[in-house]
Amino acid sequence: MPRHTKVLKLHILKPGDFMNWKELGDLLREARYRVFRLANMALSEAYLAFHQKRAGVEHKQKKISELNRELKKTLEDEKSKRAKKSAEELSAPFVQFAKDGALPANVVDALSSYKLKALTSNTKWSDVLKGKSALPTFRSDMAIPVRCDKDSQPRLKRTQSGDVVVKLALRLKPYPCVVIAIKRDSLGDGQRAILDRLLDNADNKEDGWRQRCFEIKEDKQSRKWHLFVTYDFPAESPQNLSKERIVGVDVGVSCPLFAAIGNGHARLGRRAFGALGARMRALQNQTVRRRREIQRGGRTEISSETARSGHGRARKLMPIEKLEGRIDSAYKTLNHQMSAAVVKFAKDNGAGVIQMENLEGLKETLAGTFIGQRWRYEELQRFIAYKAKEAGIEFRKVSPKYTSRRCSECGHIHMEFDRKFRDENRNGARPARFVCPECGYKADPDYNAARNLATDGIEKLITEQMKKQDIKSKSGDL
Ligand SMILES: [Zn+2]
Repeated sequence: MPRHTKVLKLHILKPGDFMNWKELGDLLREARYRVFRLANMALSEAYLAFHQKRAGVEHKQKKISELNRELKKTLEDEKSKRAKKSAEELSAPFVQFAKDGALPANVVDALSSYKLKALTSNTKWSDVLKGKSALPTFRSDMAIPVRCDKDSQPRLKRTQSGDVVVKLALRLKPYPCVVIAIKRDSLGDGQRAILDRLLDNADNKEDGWRQRCFEIKEDKQSRKWHLFVTYDFPAESPQNLSKERIVGVDVGVSCPLFAAIGNGHARLGRRAFGALGARMRALQNQTVRRRREIQRGGRTEISSETARSGHGRARKLMPIEKLEGRIDSAYKTLNHQMSAAVVKFAKDNGAGVIQMENLEGLKETLAGTFIGQRWRYEELQRFIAYKAKEAGIEFRKVSPKYTSRRCSECGHIHMEFDRKFRDENRNGARPARFVCPECGYKADPDYNAARNLATDGIEKLITEQMKKQDIKSKSGDL
């Protein structure tokens, strides 16, 4: 089965076990220096080999393992030269990185396959000669690559206390261990989901999500260390998905999202998103209450840090910014859940296409819908688009024109069924029902719109129907 490869960025929270930050920092910087030296040696060697070959000169290109041994010797020479000048250097312990080279095989292999290969092909060197690209060099702050795809090589794992840790096999044992930051502020929901999948498959089984290579890099600004995990996962086979089966997705008024397929075989409704939706409504109501309270000129001072101890009270007195932050993160979670549900719905129904409305440049079309704001809708679309892509499903945006007013049964455009009509004919919280004046088809308006969006060539069908009914549209008319 084909596989996709991606990279996950994690923050290193602290050293584990026997090291402190100073020792870990020193070790990482020394390892990085060695990687940087070896990487540039390998580049020079490859460039030299390319030239010799072009000139017809017999040249045996040195393998990277050979260069690794050479580098060890060079570093030792350099150290003893420095030591002659200062006695201090001589007594400083020399970290053992590898027995027979400057760096262990885990690192050398990773450097060779993940960093050098892309730079040292003949095509690349030809481009350099032609001036199409610059001569590549590695910078001294480059990432330290470490392979982690073989059975014996340490990978990310969860400890009994719930920490996520990894041993960095970039020197001789004992390997330094680091703890990964997994709190909400350093790891988004999407990243967390990926990390969970990788941890679930810590044995790197063929059919799961596998850790392939780590890169340890220091952030230039914050001086903090990050761990980039190159991972791969099985690409879903798109063979069972048909491009003729389309899932239409529309934001709803009565519930966050409707998905429909073909002739209305199924739909995703409020049941799937009810609990989270209720939580968001509660947070929103709380925000409104809080705002009113403040407008009445009172009690803002109680929301200070000290007042927020104690149960119950703390919720009531949460500052507005914090409430809004919670709402935002609840929406993000919802968007992740909805996008995953939509893609699953498409896969389960063998649909090879997902269609949604393109709302770019349109104002206020989302007012009154559950999702409410455009950036949330756009976030949702982004999530659906990338999850669909991973599943081998095509994502299309179509014009929203009259998708809410077209009868999904007979194609007639119900011109009176505009936003105003829908707002005026609400039945409490329930939106006005769509009733087709032509064929009498009755449906929930959100569902009817989703069914329209599940129709192949919907834009063309609507344009043709407009001609038939002699509808002259204004721009922005939906
Ligand atoms: Zn109809």
